[in-house]
Amino acid sequence: MFIKSIPKRIISLGLGVLVLVFALWGAVAYFAPGQCTLCNFIKSHAPCIVNMQTGEVQELDLYFPHATLVGEIADVQESSIFSFVSAAGATGTKTTSPYIIQLDVPMIQDPIIKHKFCTDCRKKLGNQSFGYVLADLYIAGEPVIIPIEDGMQVNLRCYEITAVRNSADGVYELTIKGTYDN
Ligand SMILES: [Zn+2]
Repeated sequence: MFIKSIPKRIISLGLGVLVLVFALWGAVAYFAPGQCTLCNFIKSHAPCIVNMQTGEVQELDLYFPHATLVGEIADVQESSIFSFVSAAGATGTKTTSPYIIQLDVPMIQDPIIKHKFCTDCRKKLGNQSFGYVLADLYIAGEPVIIPIEDGMQVNLRCYEITAVRNSADGVYELTIKGTYDN
C-alpha cells in the first residue's frame, strides 16, 4: 500500500507543478508580451494605422521608399498612381497626383487585444475608447499615439492628417495629404 502510493503522489505532484508552470507561462505571455506590435514595428516615415482589436499595424505610405535607408523616402518622387488601400480593416484610396490617402475608418467598440501591446503602449492607448488610432513609428521603440478625432488636424513631417466623422454611417473619414516638395 505504502509503495503503491508513492508513485501516485509523485505523479500528482508532477501534474500540479506542470499546471502551475503552464499557468505562470500563460500569465507572463498575456501581461508582458515579448513582441509589442508597436514597439517592434519597423521604422516608418508615414503615419501608421493601428487596429486595437486585432493588433494590426500598417504604414499609410504615400511616397516611394528610399533605396537603402529604412524608414526614409526617396529624394526624387516620380510616378503617378491610383490604388485602393486596405489597411488593418480600414479601406480607401491612394493617389500620387496630388499625394493623398483617403480612408474610411469604421467604428469598433470591442475591447483592445491586450497581449499585442506592451504595458507602456497599453498605458498610452488606455483612454482610447474607439477601435483605431494612428501611431508615429519613426523613432524605433518610441511609438507616439495620435488619436483619430472628429475635426482633428495634425502635421507630422511631410504629412497633413485630418479626420471628419460622417454622422450618417459613423465612420471617420481620414485624409492624409503629402506635402513633400521634391
Ligand atoms: Zn510597446
